[in-house]
Amino acid sequence: MWAHRAAGQGGGRVKRRLLSIAMFLLLGAAINVAVAWGCGLWASTSRSDDDVPGIGWPNRAPLGWPEPDRWSYSRGLGLTIRSACENLEQSFATQMLDPSVVVHWMAAYDFGLPMRAMRSTRRAVQRGRAMARPGRGGMEWGWPLPPLVNRGFAMRRLAFVPIWPGFAVNTVLYALIAWSIGSGTVRLRRARRRRRGRCVACAYDVSDLDTCPECGKAVIGTAPGGTARRGAEGV
Ligand SMILES: [Zn+2]
Repeated sequence: MWAHRAAGQGGGRVKRRLLSIAMFLLLGAAINVAVAWGCGLWASTSRSDDDVPGIGWPNRAPLGWPEPDRWSYSRGLGLTIRSACENLEQSFATQMLDPSVVVHWMAAYDFGLPMRAMRSTRRAVQRGRAMARPGRGGMEWGWPLPPLVNRGFAMRRLAFVPIWPGFAVNTVLYALIAWSIGSGTVRLRRARRRRRGRCVACAYDVSDLDTCPECGKAVIGTAPGGTARRGAEGV
């Protein structure tokens, strides 16, 4: 039934509205990713806790990985880092010289504002001093950052894995902000045109007219003379 009605004259309007919602959501998503990447480049942690018990691996661990026995958690504006490792004490005890001592290590870097929306993960397996390289037992998700902007944050990557709940919330929030700025601008422009006795749609001079001769829109609002007029659409 709704489809029938939509297929009629209202169909164009519904379609336009849906399209505009989709556009604003797309814009919101783009702003969200841009903000998260900005956090990836510039955010730093202000609080750290090295004795967080039992948060597990910060991201899905490969099959056969033992449970971690050491965790750390740090956060700052736009950034949360959770890392975990297993067997690090043993590795330190042998001064990282014994290749039979295997250390598993993983860190997740979550970026975004107000919620964390994008994640990059690093994980590695270390035997003695040898660290498995990415792609050969070691693994990284995220693009390396150019060294120029990445000074001091060498471990970070530009995150490209979305954290869906945060991604959705931020996207809707930024879409709403963009929409309210956009509609506020439109409203201001319309008010200004109305004040100057011009058509709100095309700015054609419509003083003392009921319908715009240029675009056919009904003239609503106050003319420069001060007479309030109502168009076909009402106010
Ligand atoms: Zn007009």
